[in-house]
Amino acid sequence: MTTKQSNQAVNYDAVVVGAGFSGLYMLHRLREAGFSTRVFEAGEGVGGTWYWNRYPGARCDSESIYYNYTFSEDLYKEWTWSSRYPEQPEILQYLNFVADKFKLRTDIQFKTRITASHYDEENNKWRIQLDDGTNVSAKYFITGVGCLSAANLPNFDGLESFKGEWYHTGHWPHEEVDFKGKRVGIIGTGSSGVQAIPVLAAEAGHLTVFQRTPQYSAPARNHPYDPEYIRQSKENFNEIKKQMRESQGGQPLVPPTKSALEVAPEERNQVYENAWANGGLGIFSAYYDITINEAANETAAEFIRSKIREIVKNPETAEKLLPSYYYGTKRPIIDTNYYESFNRGNVSLVDVKKAPIVEITPKGLKTTEGEYELDAIVFATGFDGMTGPLLKIDIRGRDGVSLKEKWAGGAHTRSYLGIANAGFPNFFMITGPESPSVLSNMPVSIEQHVEWIGDCIEYLSKSGIETIEAKVEAEEEWSKHCREVAESTLFTKTDSWYTGANIPGKPRGFQIYLGGVGAYRQKCDDVAAKGYEGFALMSSSRTALL
Ligand code: NAP
Repeated sequence: MTTKQSNQAVNYDAVVVGAGFSGLYMLHRLREAGFSTRVFEAGEGVGGTWYWNRYPGARCDSESIYYNYTFSEDLYKEWTWSSRYPEQPEILQYLNFVADKFKLRTDIQFKTRITASHYDEENNKWRIQLDDGTNVSAKYFITGVGCLSAANLPNFDGLESFKGEWYHTGHWPHEEVDFKGKRVGIIGTGSSGVQAIPVLAAEAGHLTVFQRTPQYSAPARNHPYDPEYIRQSKENFNEIKKQMRESQGGQPLVPPTKSALEVAPEERNQVYENAWANGGLGIFSAYYDITINEAANETAAEFIRSKIREIVKNPETAEKLLPSYYYGTKRPIIDTNYYESFNRGNVSLVDVKKAPIVEITPKGLKTTEGEYELDAIVFATGFDGMTGPLLKIDIRGRDGVSLKEKWAGGAHTRSYLGIANAGFPNFFMITGPESPSVLSNMPVSIEQHVEWIGDCIEYLSKSGIETIEAKVEAEEEWSKHCREVAESTLFTKTDSWYTGANIPGKPRGFQIYLGGVGAYRQKCDDVAAKGYEGFALMSSSRTALL
């Protein structure tokens, strides 16, 4: 680790924000191509999402042999995952292994947050402000801030008066938190809450789950890997990599060709039963029309509801747990004993849609129906997704216009390919809004962006081009296309963090590209092959070449 003082007035070819999956590979890619590159990371170590999200039960819900980098065959073969859905510590260990293998730490400055980055038009440089009061500059400014790193802590009255301890799943302490025998309340039943609830239930004296929207979840059925399975995956590295990169969701799966409505109910039920027994997201991907057709969606939704009724012994509790929104239009969840937790004597469920939370009190939490005394509160209340992490930094492009101002009407209205923005030359976003990102297997989408950005910077450098900037028309066309694809699905019919609906006052708009990883990669490659179509390439900051 290098010192903070060494940054005073230093200039780099590229500055990258964040040392998670994105930032680590971006650093490696640019350094290999000979560009001076510096990563700034707020945490004390590498890992990004997997550094911060260390709540009890945190684990990945993409299968581990696919949830890793594939840019290096050596790396793929050197690392061996223990199980299908490994827990957070193992994923963090993997990212540390990557950082060590490629000797990345020397170019990462930890415990440093970038507070602002302003484009200096005259000198064609990004002026970057750090929270230690120093600043650096760079020709290229690249964000690898993750899609889900700005925690959403609802603005409940009285939190400061609470006498117990409280935690947010996305900012979990590094020390072990002891819930033994305590009265614990958890707010939120998204992916984080559903993973944490069974683990907290096993430890707490009593766990009260404050649920606003019931969730569809399917069993993960995690298991240790058979060494033979691992051997085969390593042997088939190239094929797996190709399939993932050309797929819809970044997994090497054969896409479904049948409609849920064209098969007999008995056959369909058997397909769902098999998926339930195998664990994972098999129900979500069983038929091609689950997320586009209401009746098809209802078949999967009702199947999961029937499982909830079967698992949860108390009919009143089961009823409260039954979801009604379109299955899959909030992030589909996989779990380990989630619904089963509600059969425990020490777990109770409170419906805060019916009786909303009014305040946090010194003793606990008050809803419109009563007060719950608690020793600890866990906020599993999610994130200001996609735009939130970017807008935490004061990013300003040409004429001092901020990204916040540009996106005041909603992210969906303005980005080119989810990578670039008109008015912001030489600024790239890894898995930005309007790219497949969180609706795909993240490492696959991250690698695609990193490689595209790396290739682009190499091209600019070799061609003597000083700036690249998205054109307004290209941006509008891409945003329109993203909206049209989203509106052809059921995703836009549900309030979720995908649409920004979870953050009071956030402009609504579907923030993710749903056209699929393979098609999206093709589009990005075509743009590059056509000399960066849709971008203005300039020999200086204002002189257009193309
Ligand atoms: P989330 O899906 O946004 O869930 C937040 C939960 O908090 C929801 O149940 C929400 O209810 C509730 N909530 C928010 N504000 C509330 C309020 N004021 N009062 C009562 N309830 C409130 O967040 P998350 O669970 O952290 O997951 C976010 C995303 O992170 C996931 O969708 C996924 O992409 C990713 N993630 C992935 C994994 C994994 O790979 N295994 C694990 C964790 C997270 P409503 O639904 O009613 O808004």
